Formats: sequence, C-alpha cells, structure tokens
Amino acid sequence: MTFRVLVDIGANLTHDGFDADREAVLARARAAGVAAMIVTGSSLADTEKAITLCRQHPDMLRTTAGVHPHHAASLGDVDAGQLVELAQDPMVVAVGECGLDYFRNFSPPADQRRAFELQLGVAARLNKPVFLHQREARDDFLAMLRAHPGVTARAVLHCFTEGPDMLEECLALGLSIGVTGWICDERRGEALRESAPRIPDDRLMLETDAPYLLPRTLQPRPAHRRNEPAFLPAVLQETARCRGEAPETLARTTTGNACRFFGLTLAALGDIH
Ligand SMILES: [Zn+2]
Repeated sequence: MTFRVLVDIGANLTHDGFDADREAVLARARAAGVAAMIVTGSSLADTEKAITLCRQHPDMLRTTAGVHPHHAASLGDVDAGQLVELAQDPMVVAVGECGLDYFRNFSPPADQRRAFELQLGVAARLNKPVFLHQREARDDFLAMLRAHPGVTARAVLHCFTEGPDMLEECLALGLSIGVTGWICDERRGEALRESAPRIPDDRLMLETDAPYLLPRTLQPRPAHRRNEPAFLPAVLQETARCRGEAPETLARTTTGNACRFFGLTLAALGDIH
C-alpha cells in the first residue's frame, strides 16, 4: 500500500483523556502517516496548554486559539486582549474553534453570539484563518458569517455533518469543509455521505475531532470509545469511498489543502504538495 501523508486539522489533544499516554498517541499518529495535527483550542486556558504542547512538538503540532461556544459565557470583554495575544503566538495557525451551538446551550445563545462576533473580529484584525463550529444554529451562524465576507474566504467549518442544501450555503460563503468520522456512522452519517461527493477538491480537509467521534468503520473495533489521530485513515477511506476516488488521491489533495489553508511549513510534511 502506498504511504500516505495526512494532516488531522482538528484534534483535542489537550483533553484529559490523553493525559496518561499523550506521547504514545502522537507516536501512533506518526506511524499511521498522520504527519501533522492542528490542536483545537477550546478556551483561553486550553489554548495556553495547547501552545505549550506545540512547543514540545514543533515538527508535528500547531494549534488554534479560541473559545468554543460551550465556553462563550466565560469570554468577557476583558479577555479579548488575551485572545489577541495568544492568537499571535507563532504556534497558532487559526482563530477558533468558535461559532454557535444551540444543541445543548451550555452558554446562553446571546453570549455565544457575542463571543463569536468578537472572535470573527479578532481573525479579521490579525488576518488569520478561522476554525468554525456549528450545531443547530444554522440561520444565526450563516447570518453572522455573511457580515464578515473577508473572513469567510479563509474559514473552515469543522465537523460538517449536514446535507447538500447546507453545504451549498457554506460553499457560497467561501467556507472550506472539515470531515470527521461522522461520515463512518452508518446511521447518523447519511446526510454527510450525500454531501461528500459535492465538496470541491480544493475545499475539503480531514479531521478526527479526537477524543470524540471514534470512526465506526474501524476494524477491528477497539475495546474503548476514545478516538485518536492515528484513526484518521479510517476517515480518509470512507470519504474517498463516498467520493468515488482513490484514497491516495484524496490524501494528496486534503493534505495540500491543509498546508495551504493553515500555512503549514512543517519539516514532517516535506514537499508533498
Ligand atoms: Zn466542534
């Protein structure tokens, strides 16, 4: 089998589920061909941890700097300056993850919109790409993005799960699309599997969202539920199958997209694009 070089554009590597064996997780990722990972920053404290982790592995890791909608209530105006400072760290390649999540409303929707608007403003001001999250907040999410046309051309909607109609709205805004192991779920992944072949080659990137969303197509099925970047090839495999293309081809295009989108120049990636 041809060796494929992959980039996992969304891995929650600061999650305490990795505390016991984080180094082994990184080693397994590398052995599986996942040469680089973008750590997801989900709060200011978490972003600080992610930057520290990246500094320990500058050949493999970069991070985003941002506040997940679940933590939106904690981002006061006072903290905006801290976000700007963190986002300018050399290890930070995007602002986020940010967006709206009305599925559980861990933060009140008004706080979520305020934190999202603030982060879109920071991205515009620093001219950084954006890592987006959206769940059950489609109309507000699209409306807010439409007010930031300069930002949407360099934004990726991570863990896209929806059907072709939402895909069209996102593509029209200029968004790139992140596909996770959601596509490997025979029950929940139907809409996404319908969208997958319609994502233009230059707008598609792959991610695990580890430790969440363990791909259900893994053989043999692990005894535990924890996902990790080494399982990204399962996402590649299923996405390639849905798109009717060779995994090697999809690996090359998605890795090239990730390098271009995040401006990655990691030695581990060589000159594969
Ligand atoms: Zn997310």
